[in-house]
Amino acid sequence: MTQGELLCASKSLVSRATTQMGRSSPGPSAAAARLLPVLVPVVAGAVVVLGAALWKLAHPLPPIDSATGILALLVIATVAEAFPVPIEGVSAGRTSLASVFIVAGAVIYGWAPATLIAVAAMATVELARRRRVSRVFYNTALYGLAAASAGLTAGAVVGSSLASLIVATLLAWTAFYIVNVTLLAAIRMRAEDEAMVRVWRSFVISTAAPATILVSFAVLVVVLWDRSPLLILALLCPLAVIALHERWLHAALGRLRELDRLKNEFMAIVSHELRTPLASVYGAAMTLQRSDVDDSVRESLHAIVYRESARLAHLVDQVLWASRLEAGRVQASSERVDGVRLASEVVDSAGAHLENGVALELRKAGEVCPVAADAEKVRHVLANLVENAVKYSPEGGRIEVAVEPAASCVRFSVRDEGLGIPDDEQERIFEKFHRLDPHLTRGVGGTGLGLYICRELVRQMHGEIWVVSTEGRGSTFTFELPDVSADLGAVGAH
Ligand code: ADP
Repeated sequence: MTQGELLCASKSLVSRATTQMGRSSPGPSAAAARLLPVLVPVVAGAVVVLGAALWKLAHPLPPIDSATGILALLVIATVAEAFPVPIEGVSAGRTSLASVFIVAGAVIYGWAPATLIAVAAMATVELARRRRVSRVFYNTALYGLAAASAGLTAGAVVGSSLASLIVATLLAWTAFYIVNVTLLAAIRMRAEDEAMVRVWRSFVISTAAPATILVSFAVLVVVLWDRSPLLILALLCPLAVIALHERWLHAALGRLRELDRLKNEFMAIVSHELRTPLASVYGAAMTLQRSDVDDSVRESLHAIVYRESARLAHLVDQVLWASRLEAGRVQASSERVDGVRLASEVVDSAGAHLENGVALELRKAGEVCPVAADAEKVRHVLANLVENAVKYSPEGGRIEVAVEPAASCVRFSVRDEGLGIPDDEQERIFEKFHRLDPHLTRGVGGTGLGLYICRELVRQMHGEIWVVSTEGRGSTFTFELPDVSADLGAVGAH
């Protein structure tokens, strides 16, 4: 098991326990009260142990070379704690390599310096991260007690041969591990009402592999340090590279998982979105087959078939666009496009189907140059933004489409008085499949592909797209495309 990892877990557990208990009504103080039977004895025990360690260190003060060694281990342990390594399959999250250097300190310099290294490293990192006070105390105490037990255990091994060093490190490691797991299981037992043995077992199983690697590192550090502390540099470089690579891998896996989740969500959304218009078309076709349907009903059924098949076609169209963009099969051509005329066509076409008293108008400001772009793609982007504005507008809402000149480009914008978009979602809505929470969109349907397609098309035409929005007050989606005075040859280079 990885001690650092357990600590990371305990960090999140202490705060999660506080949050969860806070949610179940009694508030954060009740949550903290529930943890007190574990927090108080652990912290009190650690204070006593730290006091004794400081006293021992001061009587007598260690010689200068030992003091330098202790300081070096403290710095390395703090850096390792500050940059934990995520380990795949370890449920608690990330593993810090700090425990390697604390256990090394325990074997080489004894329990008192090891306690000081552990407490100082953990307290520094936790305080720098501005963690909750209870969490800072618990994690620091946990590390301090684990380090002291590692040092005391290693101290029981006599002799200074290579074999004794290895045995001392293995025993010190085991002691650190057991204290760590036990104290972590204890806090989790209080926080989540789980059986201690079950929690203990699950931690041991999930961290067995990284623990084996870390214990080997600890043995290597101790043996090298014993020969010459400078040799440790030979180990630190590959360790740092492995840690960086592991972080990178973990981030990549996280992104893949998120994409997988979004794709599953997308399948569910698309199936739902296909089903609704299909059911309407099917129902209308069945009714039209009957001979007793009068002309007016027949007419409205035809209208349903027309409207719902258009919806289906639009949906399939979006999926096709997204997959073509993904495969790099979309090329933007470069032509001279009259942005004002194009916007006016989009507004006229969308204006013909408006419902719920929504008003749509075009505003042209100043003399607008033609843009160097692909007319079909500009139309697609503008139509999509207008369609969204209509979809997310309240009854009687006003939508304004504007085309105006900007520095060497033309700015198109679509402003609505709709639901608006929370600040932290304004970047993400341009990502593939990303949709706002249904309660933020009043359950309005969609695939989460429209804005992704818009962003990709605008980028292909060397433009930029963004949104400015206030929740509950409306949004303005804007994109800019280079005007014809810019280099026409640049457009369509993709
Ligand atoms: P969708 O098909 O879901 O509308 P989009 O990619 O076009 O997909 O939009 C992504 C999300 O951005 C939408 O689900 C919606 O939550 C939000 N959104 C887009 N346009 C607007 C708007 N004008 N007002 C409020 N929210 C919007």
